[in-house]
Amino acid sequence: MPSKNKIMALIVQKYGGTSVGTTERIGNIADRIVATKKLGDDVVVVVSAMSGETNRLIALAKEISRQSSPREMDVLLSTGEQVTIALLAMALNARDCPAISYTGSQVHILTDSAHSKARIKEIDGSRIHRDLSLGRVVVVAGFQGMDDNGNITTLGRGGSDTSAVALAAALKANECQIYTDVDGVYTTDPRVEPRARRLERITFEEMLEMASLGSKVLQIRAVEFAGKYNVPLRVLSSFTEGKGTLITYEEDGVEAARISGIAFNRDEAKLTVLGVPDHPGAAYQILGPIGEANIEVDMIIQNVGRDGTTDFTFTVHRNDVEQAVRVLNGVASELGAREVNSDDSIVKLSLVGVGMRSHAGIAGSMFKILADEGINIKMISTSEIKISVVVDEKYLELGVRALHDGFELEKTA
Ligand code: ASP
Ligand code: MG
Repeated sequence: MPSKNKIMALIVQKYGGTSVGTTERIGNIADRIVATKKLGDDVVVVVSAMSGETNRLIALAKEISRQSSPREMDVLLSTGEQVTIALLAMALNARDCPAISYTGSQVHILTDSAHSKARIKEIDGSRIHRDLSLGRVVVVAGFQGMDDNGNITTLGRGGSDTSAVALAAALKANECQIYTDVDGVYTTDPRVEPRARRLERITFEEMLEMASLGSKVLQIRAVEFAGKYNVPLRVLSSFTEGKGTLITYEEDGVEAARISGIAFNRDEAKLTVLGVPDHPGAAYQILGPIGEANIEVDMIIQNVGRDGTTDFTFTVHRNDVEQAVRVLNGVASELGAREVNSDDSIVKLSLVGVGMRSHAGIAGSMFKILADEGINIKMISTSEIKISVVVDEKYLELGVRALHDGFELEKTA
């Protein structure tokens, strides 16, 4: 409702590929933007390419050459977003809402020169502010920028989220709204636990844990960026009405929920080196070569030594198992270790919540809930706001549902 005493806000809205996937959908979001504008807020919109478009462009490039230059790939991939900014600006203008579109370079989204994964260094918001003061909606292409030499760069797949957050930070926007095909961040994946509940709010730290564990609602870099520059971030649906989920810092005085959600990750595999001589440097001798092979390690445990040897277990991405086993076989014979085992039929379940900082006993409750279901825990790791366990993959659904139920996540805190 327009109101005289409402303080005018600057909102950055980002619409993903499915939200701009057809001209009809572009029309729908134009209606939504017009409605926001009528409330008296200034609006900057960031859009992705139409869904499937970036993949289509990549396939075209592959038809030409298997290995194209990264610079030309970025020139090609940035075109997807140039289409949607123009169409959206046209749709707004057709609704008598003055709008203007810009590519990344036109509004000086300056990045480093790392083609296909460039990082934003600086944004000059002056041109956008000028347009806003003239009453225009400014539509900016996501996913792209320009390096110091004027070359077009792209920010990595899903990079429009980061564009939106970076613009919101540079323009000192009041909120950055990410419109997507889900209506917010859930306590867990509703496909696994239908009683999963949309969270009203979640902290940046929790969101990072949830996102990095596979709840792929937002690009992780975008969340990091928003946290660093303290940009309130809201995830909402572009198809339904609703307040979505607000991602911010913890507010003083508000008692945090003990647990915000349960994340899971099916992408890991477990490796064990058995009978490792228990002497200084053994862990380094194992993980050094793994690091040199560019294999990322997640959880690590080493047993208490017995009879002068110990077992060393860690997890890596499933795609890296075979390579890791090859590396470890070499390492094991050098070290005089007995055997190397791998297991890729595991999943990692994680309980995430800032409330763990101030509530004791959560790990105990978690292990009891799993034990009551007969689920054996193979590995455990903890951080300040997360407890992760590795279990057999057949227990994924059962484990998630039991924890969701046990911690009463279906109820609002
Ligand atoms: N169009 C790009 C992609 O598909 C960027 C984005 O959608 O955020 O990855
Ligand atoms: Mg996308």
